[in-house]
Amino acid sequence: MIFFDNASTTKVLKEVSEVISFYNEQNYFNPSSIYREGVSLSRELLAAKTELINLLDANGGDVVFTSGATESNNLAILGSLTGNKNAEYIFSEGEHPSVYNVAQNLKQRGYKVHFVGLTPNGTVNEEKLYGLINQNTYFVSLMHVSNENGAINNIKDIVKNIKAINKNVLVHCDGTQAFCKINVNVKDLGVNFYTISAHKFHGPKGVGALWFNTKNLKPIVYGGGQQNALRSGTENISGIMGLIKAAQIGQESLEKNYLNVKDVREHIKTYILNNFDRAVIHENEENSPYILSVSFKGVRGEVLLHMLETKGILISTGSACSSKKQGNRILESMGKSKEEILGNVRVSFSKFSTVIEAQEFCKVLQEELNKFYNANCGE
Ligand code: PMP
Repeated sequence: MIFFDNASTTKVLKEVSEVISFYNEQNYFNPSSIYREGVSLSRELLAAKTELINLLDANGGDVVFTSGATESNNLAILGSLTGNKNAEYIFSEGEHPSVYNVAQNLKQRGYKVHFVGLTPNGTVNEEKLYGLINQNTYFVSLMHVSNENGAINNIKDIVKNIKAINKNVLVHCDGTQAFCKINVNVKDLGVNFYTISAHKFHGPKGVGALWFNTKNLKPIVYGGGQQNALRSGTENISGIMGLIKAAQIGQESLEKNYLNVKDVREHIKTYILNNFDRAVIHENEENSPYILSVSFKGVRGEVLLHMLETKGILISTGSACSSKKQGNRILESMGKSKEEILGNVRVSFSKFSTVIEAQEFCKVLQEELNKFYNANCGE
């Protein structure tokens, strides 16, 4: 099987599984317990936070462990809400549903919410964004790397420009598709919140983190007061330790993995450009090599997905979280035609992807599309 849907999730590394098993089977205590085993685990938890702050190159700040990026994004936004009726919130139209749908909900509840469109390349429209910033702007949320097409927002410059207009704006960045894939230096980015999710970098599902450096964050989950009362509930120790292990390995091998997936992506991109005149690639100049978004005109993305599936190749039709919804809000915001949206697929890679797999993918793609176009020459 060729797994080219790594933006939806990734395989857990053996080293990570071993760590998870250790904390599930041997060091399984509750970090809130006051006997030695519990106290020792609570220290390990603190060390895990410090380690993650280091791995994020954050130079300070704090970390809350969560159930994944969805919760981290919800916590950043909902945990920062202010009673100030004039406060304005800004989100890009390219955000993942775990940001976008929270924003929609805030809007319905009467908050002053603005959405900024995307450029045809998938990055936020910076000119429109700056046009919206004023002295009432309170919170801005922008993703680092688009889960749709891998476009990289230049967060560092964007934050600088936002804060030059209003230095008090809180900026949240969803780094789910960025961390352990491209260089992430949170201090350098200048953001106030940064979201990550373990299962996108070969860690377990159901665990993530929110880094933050503001004192204003309030909990959205109440209970026993764990994690400085910011996220009650017994900590998912095995998941958290698995996240840390995956992050350490991911950061250590970032460069090597980057170059590998770049080759894989380049191979497929070149093949498509040379062999399919009905294909359109959606990318930004600064794009993650982990994601390739392409539309084949005249064939529906889901039809192509299932054709490849029968040959043992797994891809996606855009972000998995929104795959059951009609249309594609993000490609629409990028101004893509209906035909391009219908024919869109997302091919995404991991450190396990190889050029040999890419060659096989291209061969099967060619065969299947030839068959399809020959059978449907009028479309
Ligand atoms: N943000 C982005 C950019 C994502 O790609 C995803 C996963 N598709 C999420 C948030 C949600 O992540 P999780 O599955 O950890 O909740």
